[in-house]
Amino acid sequence: MTDTLGGRVHPGISLSGRVFRTMSKERILVIEDELDILTNIKLRLESRGFTVFTSKTGEEGLETAQKKIPDAILLDLMLPEINGLEVLKRIRSNRAISHIPVMIVSALGEESDVVVGLEMGADDYMSKPFNAAVLVARINALLRRNRQDDEKGLLRIGPIKMDVEAFHAFLDDEPISLTGAEYRLLLALIKSKGRVLTRNQLIDSVMGTDMIVTERTIDVHVTGLRSKLGDARKLIETVRGVGYRLNPSADLCTESR
Ligand code: CA
Repeated sequence: MTDTLGGRVHPGISLSGRVFRTMSKERILVIEDELDILTNIKLRLESRGFTVFTSKTGEEGLETAQKKIPDAILLDLMLPEINGLEVLKRIRSNRAISHIPVMIVSALGEESDVVVGLEMGADDYMSKPFNAAVLVARINALLRRNRQDDEKGLLRIGPIKMDVEAFHAFLDDEPISLTGAEYRLLLALIKSKGRVLTRNQLIDSVMGTDMIVTERTIDVHVTGLRSKLGDARKLIETVRGVGYRLNPSADLCTESR
């Protein structure tokens, strides 16, 4: 048995018996074309309590990233068809997934690509072969950095960020000016994490102490909110006859502003 992924065996390093803590089931997407390495990483991460999605090509990886919105992406640089750097570029220019931390994985001799990758916005890198324990530690560090946002009262979905304590909302880190009702509406939608909210539920969230809100008013506030969100307005989906939901995997088709 080996704890080394993607190469040499390091005997004497055993992870068995060690206790690893993970807060909740965090979701990692692994994009890697070599099946044995992919399987090995998947098993290792799953045994540490992560939920793991796998993709063998860049194209498939981008699709999965959009669909699943993982907490982090482990991206091999040397991939067939579209290579890792191109995948990274597409991740960073797609506003639905550009916030996801990416760790690039390189083989020997790809150091210059690592530098390019970091400059393109990769958050960290590892070189093959790597040790499973180190990989898990580095992924945890990556996730921890990202989680600090939540702890500071920041909520984020695609390009939208809300500072709950300061009562501010941002689009691509630029402050947006919302009415009180629009702010509460956006907050309710973000907190529902993709679930559909009925107009009645939204009335409860949006109602201020000094105003009467009807189902029709909700539609008016949604229209107002969408008009301030640019392309990100597509995140707010109308669910016919029911209400609204904020779909984190809506295609924002970016590169434009
Ligand atoms: Ca590869």
